[in-house]
Amino acid sequence: MKLNFNIEPLENWLPVKHQPLVIAGPCSAETEDQLVATAHLLAKTGKITALRAGIWKPRTRPGEFEGIGSIGLEWLNRAKRETGLPITVEVANAKHVEEALAAGVDILWIGARSTANPFTVQEIADALRGVDIPVMIKNPVNPDLSLWIGALERINQAGITKLAAISRGFSSYEKSAFRNEPMWELSIQLKTLCPELPIICDPSHICGNRELIPYISQKALDLEMNGVMIESHIDPSVAWTDAKQQLTPAALSDLIDNLTVRQPEPKDQGVSDKLAELRKQIDKIDDLVIQKIAERMSIVEKIGEHKRDNDMTILQLNRWDEIINKRADFAKALKLDAEFTTKLLELIHAESIKKQTEIMNVTKVVE
Ligand code: PEP
Ligand code: MN
Repeated sequence: MKLNFNIEPLENWLPVKHQPLVIAGPCSAETEDQLVATAHLLAKTGKITALRAGIWKPRTRPGEFEGIGSIGLEWLNRAKRETGLPITVEVANAKHVEEALAAGVDILWIGARSTANPFTVQEIADALRGVDIPVMIKNPVNPDLSLWIGALERINQAGITKLAAISRGFSSYEKSAFRNEPMWELSIQLKTLCPELPIICDPSHICGNRELIPYISQKALDLEMNGVMIESHIDPSVAWTDAKQQLTPAALSDLIDNLTVRQPEPKDQGVSDKLAELRKQIDKIDDLVIQKIAERMSIVEKIGEHKRDNDMTILQLNRWDEIINKRADFAKALKLDAEFTTKLLELIHAESIKKQTEIMNVTKVVE
């Protein structure tokens, strides 16, 4: 299934002078000086494509700093005038949209908490009807691809064709090294359903700390995402929001220098040919792996029939331990990762049990 979006190419509304595309700026606009000074330092690197800043902040708990509000639009406009960078802000209701449009904001984004609420997204979509402005939509906080797609559809159906998704990670009950789990598979699924939709990664909100941002940024580019949005503050240690994850403009500049922008397809014919040859070898091996698994399954079926006809249980734990241990040793000797091998065997074993269960439940053949 493919999704039917009407989307303009990213180059139409966010041309990139310096690869990769980087949207940067503070989590929140705090003061005019903080915002404008940060913008100048970012612009001076020559590596930034657009300036971001939150002025209406969705906070989990009341009583925290909820954004500087409409005055921030004037500061953003000054930063834009002085640096030439296009500006982007988060909007969460119709009033935000109207104010941002009146102030000449170049790009709007919808935050993770808003995407999770179809009423909010529809209110924003209605406010955007008949307006030609780019909109970026962050994934919802929870790992629900349909909600993300639904938000993109609502905004697209309002006539917004300059559309992108932002992957900012998903909240999870499990404790992990990340503030929000990247769950790359959801972005990959979205890309598969709608290949023309640009996806930008937000490593800042995925990581929640500075240390992991380079790793996530590189991974995003290697997964063919179209760029990154990274929070940058002139002095992160005193930032009013998300202090732990913001980078100074200088640190961000270093990070960008250390990113490798790889091409999905090589330009050189020799490189292409070599890759094609290696891929042919892999295809052959994959065919063999599948063929061998099919052979294994037909033996499993025979075992299932044998166990059924002799009233034996499906699972013999000793046998399973033996499979795992022996094969894990063999795999280790071949320098395969033990965890990977165990996972693979568990998957094959689960399928074998499923097959045997099907066979057990067929009436015993009495000859
Ligand atoms: C933000 O970009 O500062 C923000 C609030 O992000 P999210 O909506 O992803 O939490
Ligand atoms: Mn933030």
